[in-house]
Amino acid sequence: MFPYELIVKKRDGRTHTEQEIDFLVQGFTHGQIEEAQMAAWLMAAFIRGLDREETKYLTESMVKSGSTIDLSRLVGKAVDKHSTGGVGDKTTLVAGPLAAAVGVKVPKLSGRALGHTGGTLDKLATIPGFRTSLFQDELITQIQEIGLAIGAQTAGIAPADKKLYALRDRTATIESIPFITASILSKKVAGGAKIILIDVKTGSGAFMPDLEQARELKRSLVEIGAELGLKVKCLVTDMNQPLGMAVGNSLEIVEALETLQGRGPADLTELSLRLAAEMALLGQIASTMGDARARVETALAQGHGLDVFEKMIHAQAGDEGMVKDPSRLPTAPNVLSIAAEHDGYMVVKDCRAIGLAAAVLSGHRGGGFSFDAGAGILMRVRHGEAVRAGAPLLELHYTEDERRAEAELLVRKGIAVVAEEPKMWPLVYEDED
Ligand code: URA
Repeated sequence: MFPYELIVKKRDGRTHTEQEIDFLVQGFTHGQIEEAQMAAWLMAAFIRGLDREETKYLTESMVKSGSTIDLSRLVGKAVDKHSTGGVGDKTTLVAGPLAAAVGVKVPKLSGRALGHTGGTLDKLATIPGFRTSLFQDELITQIQEIGLAIGAQTAGIAPADKKLYALRDRTATIESIPFITASILSKKVAGGAKIILIDVKTGSGAFMPDLEQARELKRSLVEIGAELGLKVKCLVTDMNQPLGMAVGNSLEIVEALETLQGRGPADLTELSLRLAAEMALLGQIASTMGDARARVETALAQGHGLDVFEKMIHAQAGDEGMVKDPSRLPTAPNVLSIAAEHDGYMVVKDCRAIGLAAAVLSGHRGGGFSFDAGAGILMRVRHGEAVRAGAPLLELHYTEDERRAEAELLVRKGIAVVAEEPKMWPLVYEDED
């Protein structure tokens, strides 16, 4: 087989065999297929699409590219949680500890920032000393003892996804249902959990802006997941405006802590409770949604989620003193406040622009992993809130002026103050199932 011929085949809209997809994935992972050719194939497949069979072969080949974690030693049901990516989406840091606090075992392999969306690992990496690389035995022992571990996808776990994820991030091939399905499910299969809750984001800040496309992604995840022996439950949730008020690495850790202390923004608190309750139901900790919800609400009210979070920081060698004193986290030296020019209602016109602005401020650009940990955006009002002229709409937290100027242009495109009260979005798009 020749990579060139396979690029031509997909470019011309034909269907690959299992062997052809495996040849591409293994060849690229092990350095036998050059990046330029894989990038060309990615773009061809992005435009022409992959059918369900091809998507399944892609997922299986990505799993096969590395090793698989065996979670069978864990006592209790392991439930993993994943988001398809959003702006200010820090629910893993709240729902994970809450679910663990009520008895769910939560093994969570997280990723870096992708495109305009943030990455849980980048956020956790702002905690001084926090270790995201965990060996399998450490991971299992920690989950057994605390209920939760959040680690990086190590080199051995679905290495094909790691390489493809970084290449997609640089080649404008992220927003594809087959690629997102294969990327998420390959990590989940390799990560060992058999039950997975996926938060499928839709709206201007999501990879699937259109609700129908998000529902199609949901079907793809559930159906291909089932073929691979996974129980996948998806919620389709809103990403038309940042979740919570903070967008940026250490700023989001602070907001997650406040939420675990019961002082978080209403949308973040509600979605985290909903996700944690779904995890409790999937993990058979509760037999009805009402019971699951009551348990996670109690865990939040009694600070048990915060305890789990603190124990996880300690177990992963982070500075757990930051839980009581978040000022130990990195901060940016400068703040620019953007104010309303006239009375009206604040609207988020383009949430992706806000995500991109935060990525610019933090220095995340297409696969680059060095970042300004304290930089980001703090929203001061939410979509639909009435504002008076001069009222602050959001703040840019920054180090470098050049980045601030670029981010300012982006956020000014992303928000506006309008005369008419705008249409609001639901937090969760409830579905038939
Ligand atoms: N999350 C992933 O893990 N992969 C994607 O491709 C998109 C979101």
